[in-house]
Order: sequence, then C-alpha cells, then structure tokens
Amino acid sequence: MSLSRRDFLKFSGGTALAGAVAAGVTAEEAAAEQKELRIKGLTPVNTVCAYCSVGCGILAYVKDGKLIDTEGDPDHPISEGTLCSKGASLSQVVNNPTRLMKPMYRAPGAADWKEVEWDWALDEIAKRVKDTRDRTFMVKSKSKVKEKAPDGKETTVEKEFVVNRTDGIAHVGSAALDNEECYMLQKLVRSWGLVYIEHQARI
Ligand code: SF4
Repeated sequence: MSLSRRDFLKFSGGTALAGAVAAGVTAEEAAAEQKELRIKGLTPVNTVCAYCSVGCGILAYVKDGKLIDTEGDPDHPISEGTLCSKGASLSQVVNNPTRLMKPMYRAPGAADWKEVEWDWALDEIAKRVKDTRDRTFMVKSKSKVKEKAPDGKETTVEKEFVVNRTDGIAHVGSAALDNEECYMLQKLVRSWGLVYIEHQARI
C-alpha cells in the first residue's frame, strides 16, 4: 500500500487517538503525558526569545548540555505562556544540523563560501565600512530649489548645500533590536553620515 505524506499523518494521528481513547484518556491528555516524559526531572531555564523585540519568555529544558525542549513561560509578564510559530519552534533552530556556527565569507568573484573566524570577519567589516565611508563621503551637494523673485515670480535654481553624508552604505536593522539598541544604532550610523537607514520591524 502506498501512503502519501498527508495519508501517513492522518493514519498515525488516528492510530494515536484510537490508542489513547482505548486506554481511557483524551488525545490532549496523551499528548501532555508524552511531553512530560521527555522533560521529566529536568529543571527549566528561564530565557527570552531572541527572534524579535517582543521578548517573549521561554522555558528551556536542558539535559547534559543539550536543549531538549522549549515552551512558553506562563509566568512571563509580556507573553504569559504564549509564543508565535517562530518562538515555538526555537529548539529546532538550536538542534539543527544545517545551523551555521561560524561566519561565512564569499570573496568577490568567488563561487564558493568558506568558514572564517569571527575576529577576521569583524575586522574586515570595520575596515570595509571605514574605506567605503571615506571614499564616498560628500561634504556638499547640489540640489534644485524653488525661489521667489522680488517680483513674486517663482523660479527653480540650483544651490549647493552642506550635507556631510555618504550614499555608499546602507543600514538595515534587525527585528531583534529593542528601542534602546535602535536608538544607539541610529546615533552610530548617522554619525558616519548614512542616510539610507531601514528597519525590519515585524511587530
Ligand atoms: S513574538 Fe515570536 S519571535 Fe517575537 S519574541 Fe515572541 S515568540 Fe519570539
């Protein structure tokens, strides 16, 4: 008999439910019991979801240094035990064979990515930001503005303004940043002269 993935899930779900009902417990009770076995005897560690600045509370169950399970913290004042789909699947991100553990670098023109050390990556980013900023920094720029002549007629003239900016770098903020971090980042990148500043907010 060939089973599609959907058929398999329906079949296995039905089997589990039938077994649970036969044993005199509801499907919800059976699921809770199964979860309890996985985390039995483990002390939860309180932590905060790192995905976004909502900062939902998470209980992390750890055994022998390995994350076993995560769930919403019912005592957390912000999330009160709830998590969105990203927070709820956090343990799958931690225990994932495809998770990147080191920065990756692809040199200009190269086809492949290679692992690099954090020290090298951070130095390289700082060096390139400084080089690009110095190379593209503009003290003055010309713009067309409308002016009124003494006779009341409006004309368009080109004027030069002090701008102290760079068009060579843009900055995109992360949804994991909170208000204070965003404030500090704004100060930093505006002090370099950046004007293209965006944020990936998802709240
Ligand atoms: S809303 Fe979702 S992603 Fe954001 S902190 Fe809460 S669980 Fe994490």
